[in-house]
Amino acid sequence: MTVKYPEVWDLDVLFPGGSDSAELRVHMDEAGPKLVEFEKLSRNFSVPEKTEDARQVAEVLEAVKDVMLHLRQSGAFIGCLQAQNTEDKKASLLQSESSSLSARFSSALQKIQQDLTKTDDAVWSELMKDEELSEFTFVLNEWRTKAKLLLSEKEENLITALSMDGYHGWSQLYDMLVGEIKVKITVDGEEKVMSVGQANNLSAHADAAVRKESYDKLEEAWTEKEEFFAKTLNSIGGFRLEVYKKRGWENPLQEPLQMNRMEQKTLDAMWSAISKHKQPFVSYLDQKAKLLGKDKLDWYDVDAPVTESTQTFSYQEGAEFILEHFKKFGPELEKFSRNAFEKGWIEAEDRPNKRPGGFCTGLPMTEESRIFMTYSGSMSNVATLAHELGHAFHSYALRPVHQINRSYAMNVAETASTFAEMIVADAAVKNASSTDEKIALLEDKVQRSVAFFMNIHSRFLFETRFYDERKKGVVPASRLNELMEEAQMEGFGGGLKSAHPHFWASKLHFYITNVPFYNFPYTFGYLFSLSVYAKALEEGAGFEEKYMALLRDTAIMTAEDLALKHLGEDITQEAFWEKGIALCVKDAEEFISLTSSTD
Ligand SMILES: [Zn+2]
Repeated sequence: MTVKYPEVWDLDVLFPGGSDSAELRVHMDEAGPKLVEFEKLSRNFSVPEKTEDARQVAEVLEAVKDVMLHLRQSGAFIGCLQAQNTEDKKASLLQSESSSLSARFSSALQKIQQDLTKTDDAVWSELMKDEELSEFTFVLNEWRTKAKLLLSEKEENLITALSMDGYHGWSQLYDMLVGEIKVKITVDGEEKVMSVGQANNLSAHADAAVRKESYDKLEEAWTEKEEFFAKTLNSIGGFRLEVYKKRGWENPLQEPLQMNRMEQKTLDAMWSAISKHKQPFVSYLDQKAKLLGKDKLDWYDVDAPVTESTQTFSYQEGAEFILEHFKKFGPELEKFSRNAFEKGWIEAEDRPNKRPGGFCTGLPMTEESRIFMTYSGSMSNVATLAHELGHAFHSYALRPVHQINRSYAMNVAETASTFAEMIVADAAVKNASSTDEKIALLEDKVQRSVAFFMNIHSRFLFETRFYDERKKGVVPASRLNELMEEAQMEGFGGGLKSAHPHFWASKLHFYITNVPFYNFPYTFGYLFSLSVYAKALEEGAGFEEKYMALLRDTAIMTAEDLALKHLGEDITQEAFWEKGIALCVKDAEEFISLTSSTD
């Protein structure tokens, strides 16, 4: 096959010369004066008191857009530089420079948001009717609502200043502690010294002895340092709770729900529906245990391969496969993705010094995206590529929308990506060349459900219970282990023989200070996207226009309103979530039937 699509991305069209780029330097230097001007605007901003003040607010929004675009363009580019070469020291320096520019922007913006809370309610509703502002009603109202729940500007500034060392510092310490851990594991008769990331990758190793050894060695390492991790987690949780208390926020879920623009009853309905339908996935885990010659799965068996997927695709073939199946869904997605492949928006080459994992980042000034991953030819690589193209398509769908109206939350962020991934994963199962191949691909799908319905659920249960106990005092490591084990046993619905008690120490997500409850939005996104997908299957190719309209609204609506308007669904009801779960149950059942007949 001829090479049509480059495997290395084109960054030079953005700023030529990588981290040495003179154009980038100019761009970064321009940010300074832009910020000084914005800070001045922020200082001089006066509380809107009459309808004529709409002009002032509209001007501020334009300034916000201008600075935001500028900072995001370079920020995204620098992120790409760091990912493509982890040894690029200059890129790391640029990264710190970029972070401090963003921090200045945020605090100047926060002052404006606080000012908006002081406007009288009656004046505010008049302002929102102004033709210059009506487009931004959702975002402006949200700014005001959020700022109203905060302490005074002076107090919030103090919290922000103190949180650098007193809060975020703990998160950085966590990264250092984990980075220090090295474990010795024997693979193929050879003892290897591994980092946590490398050892974690062995969880999917075909040899049970290797899986168990890596699990045991890691547990040992976590146990050895458990008091350090417990101190770190208690400090992060304690700081957060103290700030919440000062602001008068009782419920630790208030902030994460607000960030995801969703209601508590929606979250409750989701977990309740999931809890009621765990059995098919427990049966899947039991079947898997049987295939591995066990009566019940241990934690370190959950990711074990039952059968190896052997089918491989060259990058060109993978790209063609994606385009072929995207086309069946809609012309825009196919056209957009073909352009991304051809124009060098994708970095896929398998070479050293690249960051692990995949991401998609947006360059708002040039209205482009860049996708990063390492492609080694497996079907799961093809699915990842489709996933990231889905993210890029989301940005594309938002192009007609004003920049202020493009910031969507984590729970809906995974809609377009999961959707695109589903198109490809389903097609792969249908096109499987053998039963073994089909089983492997199907299991890939079921594993996602296990991750979102069981593993993530257990993280949510743990975090909720941790806060409950943390409110009363420090939670010692031994108790954290108990809480984690209980949460996992419950989250997996009795499908496990043994849990992973130190999971709370091993999972980075519990230590991300900027995003509390870095768990439930994943499950939300997965199920939400499944129901969009079900609708697409029902309606055929004509659905694409509606789909793009849904994506365009993701940043200017609550999750509840978005679902009601575009899917006609009430997501505060369990029935909505059950429909998505039912699709996943089918996969679990098919897996069980396929693997039973080959017994
Ligand atoms: Zn994603």
